[in-house]
Amino acid sequence: MLNLSVLLEDSARRYPDRDALVLGNTRIGYGELDARANRVANLLIARGIAPGDTVAMSIPNVPEFVIVYYGILKAGAVVVPLNIMLKGHEIAYHLQDSGARVFFCSEGGPDLPIGEYGRAGFAAAPKCRDMFVVGGLDGADSLDTALGEVSDVRSSVVRDPQDTAVILYTSGTTGKPKGACLSHSNMVTNALTANRLFDSSPMCTDTYLVTLPLFHSFGQTVTMNAGLSVGATLVLLPRFDALTALTLMIEEDVTVFAGVPTMYWALLDAVDETVDVQRIAATMRRAISGGAALPVEILTRFSERFGVRILEGYGLSETSPLALFSDPERDPRPGSIGVPVWGVEARLVDADWNTVTEVDTVGELALRGHNVMSGYLGRPDATAEAMRDGWLRTGDLARMDADGFYYIVDRAKDLIVRGGFNVYPREIEEVLITHEAVSLATVVGVPHEVYGEEVGAFVILEAGAQITEEELISWCRDRMAGYKYPRSIEIVTTLPTTATGKILKRELVATVRTSTVST
Ligand code: AMP
Repeated sequence: MLNLSVLLEDSARRYPDRDALVLGNTRIGYGELDARANRVANLLIARGIAPGDTVAMSIPNVPEFVIVYYGILKAGAVVVPLNIMLKGHEIAYHLQDSGARVFFCSEGGPDLPIGEYGRAGFAAAPKCRDMFVVGGLDGADSLDTALGEVSDVRSSVVRDPQDTAVILYTSGTTGKPKGACLSHSNMVTNALTANRLFDSSPMCTDTYLVTLPLFHSFGQTVTMNAGLSVGATLVLLPRFDALTALTLMIEEDVTVFAGVPTMYWALLDAVDETVDVQRIAATMRRAISGGAALPVEILTRFSERFGVRILEGYGLSETSPLALFSDPERDPRPGSIGVPVWGVEARLVDADWNTVTEVDTVGELALRGHNVMSGYLGRPDATAEAMRDGWLRTGDLARMDADGFYYIVDRAKDLIVRGGFNVYPREIEEVLITHEAVSLATVVGVPHEVYGEEVGAFVILEAGAQITEEELISWCRDRMAGYKYPRSIEIVTTLPTTATGKILKRELVATVRTSTVST
């Protein structure tokens, strides 16, 4: 049986007393976690949920995320995990679009009133019949009240491996959020592939620090599903904070950490003489980066400071997500995302799907394999545009070297075309970050009357660094071709990021629109 829920059921049978989840002082063993997921499944079935129905959830990284996610799967239903930052009308859109029959939602708190947004969204989505609030007061819609005397015994409703297990909403390359339909087979195979690459097995008794949002594919597959399948202990950190993360690494003897590059940057920034880095290095055996390009400078600095090997994965929601993988210490090729993982094929294509065969020539990365979605829910046109013969266009521009290693050059949509010349922001970022005063840099295309687009940069400085924007521009001018160097550099203290921690370039572009950019 290849149901995704088996990942938890199998571990619950084998290690019922091992800690599965830790949040603050709460520790939940595998047996208890499985039993609590059973209660959610029984509740759903009692409420008329049939195999293949969709059930949405908006829950942060707390134990209830895992309990509800697996409860939905055990009932044979399809899980639709929503971004917890969504506002009421956005939630309504996702509930309607996915055809969700039931919605589980956290109460949230004053800084993020998930429950308030959830109730507004639910009220505007008439097809969604029931809403349960997790962690709320004992109101009419409280999950605890609904669970009442519901039994904690059942086994998963069996589904076909090709049936959709999870729908992940993503904007893809363009347009409104679309639901990527991922099958049981996609999700299970990808989680097991992640384990193999990260050498995780039940023998390791690993402890994962889980701070990537679980509603997103990276955290969901690589930490939650992969970790649960090997009986790992998942230490949950609902909101990433570098100092708390470092403290938890020490207190819980964390062995595996997965994060996006901005998290690695924040950890490096936060570490000082009060943090026992040796202690962290003694237990941590794997650090995994993904979700965005890992600047070579951050990779090197992290390995030096923490003495931990960083592995880089590449993928997207549509590919479960893990598709390519690099192990920079075994095969150091700075900036490479490595080679396709087991069962996945990659090639570069032009606009008409012709394969780009020349070495070191930029094309759009296309993928095919066990991990690729069946399509976007209810959107045959968008699916046909993105997919052909099982191949998926990723929207990422890449090149391949003579040994078959891939390098992401940039997102196709982040490419800056300045006066007819292509400028790849990532290349400029990699140069900027080597300046001793620069801690983090991001480069965007700014609309320009003459050139169409101009190159603009935002940088965060190292603590105590003194440098002006003009000095940085002239430093870049000395190191890059005339059409490439940024004509505007803004020194900032923070950069806007998504809930996952990826830098929101489009928001930055909007802030530059109003300022003048010199030529
Ligand atoms: P998402 O669907 O939110 O997971 O976003 C997927 C996108 O993240 C990909 O299409 C890439 O643009 C980017 N991405 C993921 N991993 C990497 C990586 N290792 N290097 C560069 N970009 C990445």
